Amino acid sequence: MRKLALSIFTLFTTACCFSQTDDSLMIRRIADEILLNGKAYDNLHDLTKNIGGRLTASPGFYKAIQWGMKVLQQSGADKAWLQECMVPHWVRGGKDQAVATVSQEKKSLDVIALGNSLGTGAKGITADVIEVKSFNDLESKKDQVRNKIVFYNYKFNPTFINTFQAYVDAVPYRGAGASRAAKYGALAVIVRSMSHSTDNNPHTGSLRYDTTLPNIPAVAIGLKDADWLSDALNTNTVKVSMKTNGHFLPDTIGDNVIGELTGSEFPDQYITVGGHLDSWDPAEGANDDGSGVVQTVEILRTFKALGYKPRHTIRFVLFANEENGLRGGTKYADEAKAKNEKHIFALESDAGSFTPRGFNFGGTPEQVQKVRSWIPLLLPYGVYQINEGGGGADVGPLRTNLSTPVSELLPDSQKYFDYHHARNDVFENVNKRELELGAINMAAFIYLVDKYGL
Ligand SMILES: [Zn+2]
Repeated sequence: MRKLALSIFTLFTTACCFSQTDDSLMIRRIADEILLNGKAYDNLHDLTKNIGGRLTASPGFYKAIQWGMKVLQQSGADKAWLQECMVPHWVRGGKDQAVATVSQEKKSLDVIALGNSLGTGAKGITADVIEVKSFNDLESKKDQVRNKIVFYNYKFNPTFINTFQAYVDAVPYRGAGASRAAKYGALAVIVRSMSHSTDNNPHTGSLRYDTTLPNIPAVAIGLKDADWLSDALNTNTVKVSMKTNGHFLPDTIGDNVIGELTGSEFPDQYITVGGHLDSWDPAEGANDDGSGVVQTVEILRTFKALGYKPRHTIRFVLFANEENGLRGGTKYADEAKAKNEKHIFALESDAGSFTPRGFNFGGTPEQVQKVRSWIPLLLPYGVYQINEGGGGADVGPLRTNLSTPVSELLPDSQKYFDYHHARNDVFENVNKRELELGAINMAAFIYLVDKYGL
């Protein structure tokens, strides 16, 4: 506690010595515009309630592309266009179901098929369940797995303060669990949801099959049912009957939606800011990533409203297909490379709509130092840390292809995984002011990069 107070004091004193009055005033104007006249919350309402879920290649996804074009134009883009890319077309195909039987008693389990998973077939799968607590546990039980359903009960680690660390730690069970169990003859897998939530909502997300192994069905299970299943298995044999319907249609055409403010001094040098337009299907994709989309649009609207003329060209990008393919981000960077474009910075918001705390930043040590010198300007709006490394998923390929410095807004992480990829990722779980504060800090960051470079 005392340490924190001391470091904030140090930042304030640093701020006074390096005070950039013009910058403070400009950022204050940005903040006032967003807090007084902001449209992000209304735009989010429109996107989530009038369009809803936006699984890549679904009808909602295509409606969202048209919506994105319209809001970028209305918010004052000098030009706006669609950048075509091929996208995967995975379909959930119906309601996912699982029923457990323990000594003649039946209990319905709250499950959802993992994205990219293949269905059970019309007859479904019925088999005894074997619980494993980790991949090591799976290896030690590999001879008992054949013809069973493997239940990965690996817990989201509560001791990580930043919940993204718990996600990184647990997500291999969702991503690779099916194939690792298929290797030993499992028929299907049930994966404990990646969440600390106190409800029972299952959390989907993509898996990746090892194509040399059978592509077995996979579902996520809500935490209460996961605990129930684990308890039941302690004393009984548990049989589960599962039915899922996931399948792929041929790849199809999707689009990144791009709006641009043309630079006054360096029109051929680009700053990108974005979020991803696609979402998972059980909900409205409000926090993931409707909030990043409307914050991106809000920055454009604000710069226009203030009459700000950027030195560099700023691109506002609503990326296609982050969730189950990253084809939009990949296409954007491939085209940038093919056209030999100079991208000086790219920023994404894809970690929820919550109170901003900082930014992850992937760049050289000198660039990190420069960005950290701006903290005093952001501190009044909540940002106090720049973490070295990282950046949003969609801007990652720019870093790989062109060594562009990349960054991601880092909001408070405590609530994000309560909603992430679950049926409660809805508009009602977004707070207007937190959403706006995120947009303010992002706009300020873009302004500082536009003015001083990296
Ligand atoms: Zn996301």
